[in-house]
Amino acid sequence: MFNVDKIRQDFPILSRQVNGKPLVYFDNAATSQTPQQVIDTIVDYYSNYNANIHRGVHTLSQEATDAYEQARIKIQKHFNAKFSHEIIFTSGTTHGINLIANGFSSILQPEDEIIVSALEHHSNIVPWQMLCERTGAQLKVIPMNTDGELIMSEFESLLSDKTKLVFVNHISNALGTINPIEQIIAKAHAFGAAVLIDGAQSCPHIKPDVQALNVDFYVTSAHKMCGPTGQGMLYGKEEWLKKLPPYQGGGEMIAEVTFEKTTYADLPHKFEAGTPNICGGIAFGAAIDYMNAIGFDNISAYEHQLLTYATQQLSVIEGLKIYGTSPQKTSVISFNLEGIHPYDVGTILDKLGIAVRTGHHCAQPIMNFYNIPGTVRASFAFYNTKAEIDSLVEGVKKAKMMLS
Ligand SMILES: *Cc1c(COP(=O)(O)O)cnc(C)c1O
Repeated sequence: MFNVDKIRQDFPILSRQVNGKPLVYFDNAATSQTPQQVIDTIVDYYSNYNANIHRGVHTLSQEATDAYEQARIKIQKHFNAKFSHEIIFTSGTTHGINLIANGFSSILQPEDEIIVSALEHHSNIVPWQMLCERTGAQLKVIPMNTDGELIMSEFESLLSDKTKLVFVNHISNALGTINPIEQIIAKAHAFGAAVLIDGAQSCPHIKPDVQALNVDFYVTSAHKMCGPTGQGMLYGKEEWLKKLPPYQGGGEMIAEVTFEKTTYADLPHKFEAGTPNICGGIAFGAAIDYMNAIGFDNISAYEHQLLTYATQQLSVIEGLKIYGTSPQKTSVISFNLEGIHPYDVGTILDKLGIAVRTGHHCAQPIMNFYNIPGTVRASFAFYNTKAEIDSLVEGVKKAKMMLS
């Protein structure tokens, strides 16, 4: 049974006060909070078996290596990858995307095309623009409609034999839209194009199955799903990871080094140069265990209730406009009060202990589409409550009164 009061006790930070008020944390799409189980894992690592991995014959090094590789297997199982060596540890979504964009430098030709969507985070735009500059390939954009959905017929007309790669987010961080990635993957594959999915916003809410999706690359960050910052994973199909060149050179990623020629290590180490965030990888595994113990079906059902309730309660405020109105969306509400700058609303909410994000959310093209400087974004997690949404609604009403 899903018991939010009990779950909240796992998160020490949720009982703190901000500006003399109980913290209401609604900035989960930027980073999630960390349960005691994950904090304990981090403390245990540094207290008991901190050592470098894969090299030492000594006990601590072997314990650290075992725990790190067990975390990789947990992640493999969670995402249902065929092999554990298809899971590459990264520092996060941004790192994973750059790793693949770098790899495609040696594959793309000037006449090739790659396709992005209008709904992306900057980290799924800029690395590809850099790739186009290096290779001469062209970047095409799937447009969006006013509900914040991708226009699929336009996507189909962008696809051709020139298309080599399509990269879209599973869920938009700015609007919460869930993109029809099953269709996108199937249609791209029909033209022989590979597909990368940015899962930074999906993994906190649902459990993707990379084999069922038949996706070529799937990337995510640990810190949006109860894990630590600076840690993430890249899933890549074995055939692709074998084909792509390494991203960074250094220790861990080699088989043999001479000054004449270096041969690279097998997967996954080929893409893991240098000492990784060992504790981060292990804590990522602990975060996945924590979320699976609650259950992703429970999480998404409960968050959907929060979204429906918050949408109803906020919509009745006169002059409040919600951006991102697709029926397929997750627990994110981006909104503005007519004639009031989002930053001012965010400042007043902070005084009331309510943490929201304001600004362009690293998605300026979406803000340009709506012709706004930014939005106030409240993003809910499974440890939030209806009572907290009531505080937000009261806070927004207060901000409106004070600012208009
Ligand atoms: C947060 C986010 C990213 C970037 O993740 P990092 O952890 O900063 O690398 C990329 N895409 C989306 C959709 C995000 O929400």
